[in-house]
Amino acid sequence: MIKLNFKSGFITIIGRPNVGKSTLLNHIIGEKISIISDKPQTTRNKIQFIHTTENSQMIFVDTPGIHKPKNKLGEFMNKEVSLALADMDVLVWVIDDSMEIGPGDSKILQRLEGINIPKILVINKIDKLSNENISKLVDKFKKRHDFKFIVPISAQRGRNVDTLLESIESLLPEGPKYYPEDMITDQQERIIVAEIVREKTLKYLDQEIPHGIAVETTMMKERKDKDIIDIHSTIYCEKDSHKGIIIGKDGRKLKGIGKSAREDIERFLDIKVNLQLWVKVNKNWREKENLVKRMGYKR
Ligand code: GDP
Ligand code: MG
Repeated sequence: MIKLNFKSGFITIIGRPNVGKSTLLNHIIGEKISIISDKPQTTRNKIQFIHTTENSQMIFVDTPGIHKPKNKLGEFMNKEVSLALADMDVLVWVIDDSMEIGPGDSKILQRLEGINIPKILVINKIDKLSNENISKLVDKFKKRHDFKFIVPISAQRGRNVDTLLESIESLLPEGPKYYPEDMITDQQERIIVAEIVREKTLKYLDQEIPHGIAVETTMMKERKDKDIIDIHSTIYCEKDSHKGIIIGKDGRKLKGIGKSAREDIERFLDIKVNLQLWVKVNKNWREKENLVKRMGYKR
């Protein structure tokens, strides 16, 4: 059956790290694929989420936070942001409960002027704001830019996310169903698996090694006639001392990382997983373009 007036399009979500972009996407999709972390810049890959309803298909592109590039990885990420904007139908800018329009926000406001697509401002974390402060924020931003909608939400509690989806849908052009409706992401499973291992490693290490790790899935293979998949992943760190920290006393920390990553990967792939982890030192990996590319940061 051909559906008349079906709408579809690409939506990009921008915003500083930690404002809650991943939480919002996870809430919309209802599955744990995008990685949520308190540490900024966790989302390094451009992950597309596809949200199909009876009337529309929304293809979300999760862009990393806009920030000053400090190294090659940063440069790449900023390039990604510009590229991601080119073909978008709707831009969603997420801010959080910080009440001031800081220098970073002003810069984004400036950039928005030159971007000729409909924009929605999302004020997230309203569970931490009084109604009065929500109105104040709305007024402040209304004066600064002509947003199509300003939607206060709590991504964590799912408050007002429906309203946001309705607003997005109303701005989408008529278009086809680009992807089958049961497809929710075009990311390779390997990259998602690596992101899960990376998230668990960061979680287990807490503040000990801030950002200097990367993960590569080196092998993924289903065993013949058995419902189990063997996965090998390598955790790269920057220093010998970091390797020791990641492995932990008697290998305990790595075991913990492996166990909780395996549980999440099993849930994601819906199959039993045998996960083996390696830890390797790769000094200054951030500067090594090749490694950056190999790990899937390149389109
Ligand atoms: P991202 O860097 O923009 O993707 O931000 P994340 O989705 O990783 O969220 C950063 C932090 O903000 C996490 O600790 C989330 O739990 C928290 N967070 C996200 N949404 C909300 C919200 O609606 N309310 C509150 N209180 N915290 C939130
Ligand atoms: Mg994120």
